[in-house]
Amino acid sequence: MKLYLTIWNIRVSHFSISVLITLLPILIVLILLYFHTVSKLQNQALNASTESVKVLNQLFTDIDQINSTLLTSTNESCEILKPKLLKYTVTHTFIRTVNLTKDNVIYCSSYPKKNYTPISPEKNKKIKLLNKSTITPDKSFLYYHKEKGELGVLITIDGSYISYLLGSNKRAFFVIDDNWLNYKAIVTTNPKIKKSHDLIETKSTQYPFKVVSVLPFSNYLQYMFDRYFLFLLLFLFIMVNIGIQIYIRLPVYDIVNAMHNKQFIPYYQLIKSSDSENWHGVEVLTRWQHPKKGLILPCQFIPALEKSKFIIPFTLNLLEQVKKDFTNCLSLIPKGFHVAINISPKHLQTIKLALDCEEFLRSFPEEHITLVLELTERDIAEPTATTYNLFELLHELKVLISIDDFGTGHSSLSYLNKFKVDILKIDKSFISSLENNPSSQYITKSIIELANNLKVDIIAEGVENHQQKEYLIQHGVKYLQGFLYSKPAPISEIYSVLTQHNSTYSIH
Ligand code: C2E
Ligand code: CA
Ligand code: CA
Repeated sequence: MKLYLTIWNIRVSHFSISVLITLLPILIVLILLYFHTVSKLQNQALNASTESVKVLNQLFTDIDQINSTLLTSTNESCEILKPKLLKYTVTHTFIRTVNLTKDNVIYCSSYPKKNYTPISPEKNKKIKLLNKSTITPDKSFLYYHKEKGELGVLITIDGSYISYLLGSNKRAFFVIDDNWLNYKAIVTTNPKIKKSHDLIETKSTQYPFKVVSVLPFSNYLQYMFDRYFLFLLLFLFIMVNIGIQIYIRLPVYDIVNAMHNKQFIPYYQLIKSSDSENWHGVEVLTRWQHPKKGLILPCQFIPALEKSKFIIPFTLNLLEQVKKDFTNCLSLIPKGFHVAINISPKHLQTIKLALDCEEFLRSFPEEHITLVLELTERDIAEPTATTYNLFELLHELKVLISIDDFGTGHSSLSYLNKFKVDILKIDKSFISSLENNPSSQYITKSIIELANNLKVDIIAEGVENHQQKEYLIQHGVKYLQGFLYSKPAPISEIYSVLTQHNSTYSIH
């Protein structure tokens, strides 16, 4: 149940990793597209409002000229001037009325009705935007009032003409003081604009107005949706496919599946005592019983597993199976029988390993099984505070520590100095070349001497022939492991060997 949960957790984390790998590029692309859209739309708005300001400036300059021309003739009577004023309304379509003022009161207008007083211009206010006039109560307009002393010329312009000059941007406003004229030529005073909206303002340097473009967040999203929907859909499709491929093809995916389907089988290689006929113990060497590829050797899956965090549940799973295998054959093995299991350095970073070993040992009568943890010299990492605590706990539990492949790495000597190591395993590369390589003999002898001085047991692995066996026995190696004695085999074969052995020799 515990293992099932672990595997389930692994699947969840494995799935999350794949989802993350898939979502991350999508998220990055979305963010990049968003910022691209924001900058593009803001630039567009800025260009459009700059253009509108230019056109509006030109309009006010034209009006200003008309005002100036008329101001020169304000000494003439209204009767004489009226046709002149009217002429401007005809020749300039955007002009609604042309009026003459005295002390800010209209006294003469192009509008035919007599006593026309649509507005009372404010003193010193050159341009003003108004919502309605008495002539057109539902239409906004703007007046341009140029004064010279007590006299002045006031021209009104239709609001819809101003909105026409804002161009096609429906989010652009023509603003004077607090009055905002929109694309429908409706004037609002101090409209409420949400904080989340971006405002792009372009002020006129010649006249007191500005053009403001309001860009809401939804505008960006809408633009992105309109422009990039197909691209995003395609990208999403590709990324989801990549995610699925990652999920399926991650090397550990198969391994996790194999764990779930109980395809990892512990094989055992017997270790021989050189001074008796007894089997000293076994080393657990895992095989992957693949449904399609057959039996797979550990070199094809252990490295990938060791790189991942899955090596820990994998080893615990193995311990569980080894426990089952040996509780069934206690009568066949001598007391103190060594069961050696290969441990990855990652596993040494967790104190829980000691608890798992304790649980393993609790399943057997006291001291019937000696659990040995083999640490490969090449992989040994710098010990941490956890490693020190762990080793102490393991020794209290009488779990032995063995340094595997001794002589091939470079860190074991300092390890030997820091921890109480119980066993050194001479690497098989030295044993296989014992007969024809003097330096292998020299190294082997040195390791044996070192082990003897440190009072550490020694196992020679990879013993394949009698010459190697004799050499090692002569030099005092007590435990031998290799094809000469036993090849890694499933528990059923180990049962047979042990049964046959016990019928030949009695267990000591
Ligand atoms: P190792 O721990 O050094 O195991 C000894 C290897 O030498 C085994 O290879 C074994 O089959 C092979 N061997 C034993 N006697 C002889 C011999 O006389 N001649 C020759 N030529 N080879 C011999 P195997 O089973 O392929 O395992 C390879 C490595 O995979 C192991 O090296 C160990 O580091 C790792 N491994 C195996 N099972 C596990 C496991 O369950 N967990 C971990 N973490 N590593 C494992
Ligand atoms: Ca080993
Ligand atoms: Ca080894």
